[in-house]
Amino acid sequence: MIRAYAATEKSGKLEPFEYDPGLLGEEEVEIQVEYCGICHSDLHMLDNDWGMTQYPFVPGHEVVGTVSALGSRVTTLKVGQRVGAGWFSHSCMTCEWCMSGNQNLCPKAEGIIVGRHGGFADKVRVNYEWAIAIPDDMNPVSAGPLFCGGITVFNPILVCGVKPTEKVGVIGIGGLGHMAIRFLKAWGCEVTAFSHSPEKEAEAKAMGATHFVNSVDPEALASVANSLDFILSTVTADLNWDAYINALRPKGRLHVVGVAPNPLSASLFPLLLGQKSISASPLGSPVTTSDMLNFSVRHGLEPIIEVYPLEQVNEAFEKLRNGKPRYRLVLKV
Ligand code: NAP
Ligand code: ZN
Repeated sequence: MIRAYAATEKSGKLEPFEYDPGLLGEEEVEIQVEYCGICHSDLHMLDNDWGMTQYPFVPGHEVVGTVSALGSRVTTLKVGQRVGAGWFSHSCMTCEWCMSGNQNLCPKAEGIIVGRHGGFADKVRVNYEWAIAIPDDMNPVSAGPLFCGGITVFNPILVCGVKPTEKVGVIGIGGLGHMAIRFLKAWGCEVTAFSHSPEKEAEAKAMGATHFVNSVDPEALASVANSLDFILSTVTADLNWDAYINALRPKGRLHVVGVAPNPLSASLFPLLLGQKSISASPLGSPVTTSDMLNFSVRHGLEPIIEVYPLEQVNEAFEKLRNGKPRYRLVLKV
C-alpha cells in the first residue's frame, strides 16, 4: 500500500489516504519520496480549475526520492539512486515527438497527478523516461521545485533562443518567477522583474534582477516601453497583456507559462508593426531537465524554499493560496 494525502472533494482538505498501486509496470520506476515541492498547479488541480481533477486527489509533482523498485525492462537506473520527477509520468516513447527528444510534447503524455496519484505520498511511480537522475552534488532538500517550476522556466530560454546579450523581463516573482530570474541572470541576461508585490523588490534584486517594476503602477509599466527582447509570464492572473507587448522591442517575444483564468487577449497592431510574438510552453524534455540540473549545480542556483512536514500540507496550501510563500514550499515526507 502507498500512504498518501488526498482530497476527496474540490478544494477539500487533504487527509491521510492509502491505495494499492498494483503490479509495477515493466517500464515503471517506483520512487521512495523524500521531498515534494508544492506548485501552484497542485492548487489549480485541487480546485479543479482545469476541469480534469479526479477525486480522491493526491497532489504532488515536484518529487525527490530514491529508486525503491524497477520494472523488469528498466536498464537506465539503479535501486537506491536519487531521482526526481515532475509533471509528466508517462510518454508513449514511439511517436515523432518522443523519438525526436520532445517527450514533453507527446500527445499521449500523462500527468503524474492527472487520473493518477502524485507525490504527496511515501511512494510514487513514473515511467523510466520521467525518473531523472539527480547530480550527486545537488542538495536534495531544495531540488524538487526544479522538476516542475525550474524546468518550466528554463526550457523557454532554449526553445525561444534567448541570447545572453538580451534584456529580459519576468512577470510574477513566485515559485516559477524567482527561479526564472536566477536562470536568466546566470545565462547572462539583464533581468527586469515585474511584480504586483512591491515588498519583493529587495529580494528580487538579490536574486539577480537589475530592475524592479511595480506592475500595478501604470506609469512604471509605461516607463519600460520598447526596452525588452523577451518577457516570461509566470502569473496566475489575467494581465493587461498590451502593456507588456508595449515593453517589448521590435522582434520581441512574450512567452507565457503561468496559467491565467481567461483567454489571453492582445491588440494586433503593436504585435504586427513590431513583428512581435506571443508563445507558450509546457515543462521540458527529460534531456533538457538533466541539462537544467547540471546548469543549476554549475552556477550554484538553488530554489529558495520553506520546508513543511507532510502532515502540515493543509497549512502549506493555505499559505500558497494567500500568495505568501517565499518562494517555494517543499514538503518533507
Ligand atoms: P506562485 O508561486 O503562486 O506564483 C505566482 C505569482 O503570480 C505570484 O507570486 C505573484 O507574483 C503573481 N500573481 C499572483 N496573483 C496575481 C495578481 N492578481 N496579479 C498579478 N500577479 C499576480 O505560482 P507558481 O507555482 O509559480 O505557478 C505559476 C503559474 O504557472 C501557475 O498558473 C501554474 O499552474 C503555472 N505552471 C505552468 C507550467 C507549464 O507547464 N506551463 C508549469 C508549472 C506551473 P508577484 O507577487 O511578484 O506579483
Ligand atoms: Zn507544477
